[in-house]
Amino acid sequence: MSDLVWLSVADARRKLDAGEISSVELTEAHLREIDRVDERVHSYLHRSGDLALEQAAAADKRIAAGDAAPLTGIPIALKDVLVTVDAPTTAGSKILEGYKSPFDATVVTKLRDAGAVFLGKVNTDEFAMGSSTENSAYGVTRNPWDLTRVPGGSSGGASASVAAGEAMLSLGSDTGGSIRQPAGFCGIVGLKPTYGRVSRYGLIAFGSSLDQIGPFARSVEDAAMMLGTISGCDPHDSTSVPLDVPDFTIGLNGDLCGMKLGVAREYRVDGMEPGVAASTDAAIARFRDLGAEIVEISLPHTKYALATYYITAPAEASANLARFDGVRFGLSKQAGSLRDMYERTRGEGFGPEVKRRIMLGTYALSSGYYDAYYVKAQKVRTLIKADFDAAFKEVDAIVAPTSPTVAFEIGARTDDPVAMYLADIWTIPANMAGIPGVAIPCGFSEGMPVSLQVFGKAFDEATMLKVAHAYEQSENWHKQHPTLA
Ligand code: GLN
Repeated sequence: MSDLVWLSVADARRKLDAGEISSVELTEAHLREIDRVDERVHSYLHRSGDLALEQAAAADKRIAAGDAAPLTGIPIALKDVLVTVDAPTTAGSKILEGYKSPFDATVVTKLRDAGAVFLGKVNTDEFAMGSSTENSAYGVTRNPWDLTRVPGGSSGGASASVAAGEAMLSLGSDTGGSIRQPAGFCGIVGLKPTYGRVSRYGLIAFGSSLDQIGPFARSVEDAAMMLGTISGCDPHDSTSVPLDVPDFTIGLNGDLCGMKLGVAREYRVDGMEPGVAASTDAAIARFRDLGAEIVEISLPHTKYALATYYITAPAEASANLARFDGVRFGLSKQAGSLRDMYERTRGEGFGPEVKRRIMLGTYALSSGYYDAYYVKAQKVRTLIKADFDAAFKEVDAIVAPTSPTVAFEIGARTDDPVAMYLADIWTIPANMAGIPGVAIPCGFSEGMPVSLQVFGKAFDEATMLKVAHAYEQSENWHKQHPTLA
């Protein structure tokens, strides 16, 4: 019954509720698929098969009692930056090896309450810093479409697991693109909600003014189901916003007539792969066929987004990572003096990219440079947000390519941090502006998936999802899976 692993969540829900399949069967099918392929893909850092089967049995009872929520009995994977009481959380770092949290992240609590099944924790670039999952201290995850290529990052395990049939859904985090870019590289759906939509309590913080948690799925409807489960205001996260959580699946019907979609001229650059440009153009034409009016817009400050991000995110990271000192958090390395202990703990515990970010961030925040770098970056950030505010006066949603290239070869960019950073040139602006974005498959180039983003107005995920769903249903891209024979 390996077909069970390719069911959509929506179909699995119907079959579970009708008693055609059980959550135990569904979970066992996923555990078998993990056994079959994960030696090659390496999505999982920690597998929790026994716990999953217990949760599945409990879910089956709940379903039989007629009390199922949308995700009851659905097997999912969690990026290893979300703390959980029953499994270790490493953030892909040696410094947190074996760390067990005394509490669950709010999104984890919500999923537990919904009766979801936890298959395990999946790989990430160390502290979510990276675009390829090559910065994990626990080995690289491979792209299920081509095992010589990266799955993207930093949520590479979350994305590869769903693409490879090793989980029906997963949760990742997106600070500068870490949900959308890997979803794009693996040919699945990845959704970054509006900043404030989902509580980050229990997410190991990277850039606190940018971080959001969101779903990976193989269809827009499935992503919408998970978004509904994890959203909402939380007293433990003061940035979460007290707004009602709509049923994000309700508006998912095909009609785009009367809608205006913006296409920004700044998202067309030299150096973009021809296959990506061709798929993007074809998708835009399809939106026209679906009844939408395409409006050319300008987001003139896009060219500063990457530079602004690489001041803001490292600055916030350098402050957030101060807690990993071997006293409060982090494997304590004993040494002669307190200072020696800090140096050993952090020197041996952090990998090279994390050290680079801490140095960049500390520099940008240091006395004499703070105004020139950090404050300046905040001002530019306001301009980037103003670009989107102006555009959304004209259009209902914006469509753009997710990445300028398809997934690259493992090792191709590890010696060139700037080439690596460029993978996120079109995902970062949404984080800077706080708006939601969803990546959906829109074709293939060199045999690898190509991806399109839809951006929505802040807290208007519903319109964004409607647009994404209409496109998805007009094509068959999302139904294609890697074989991993
Ligand atoms: N790739 C970007 C970075 O390295 C974004 C990471 C993320 O969104 N967590 O910072």
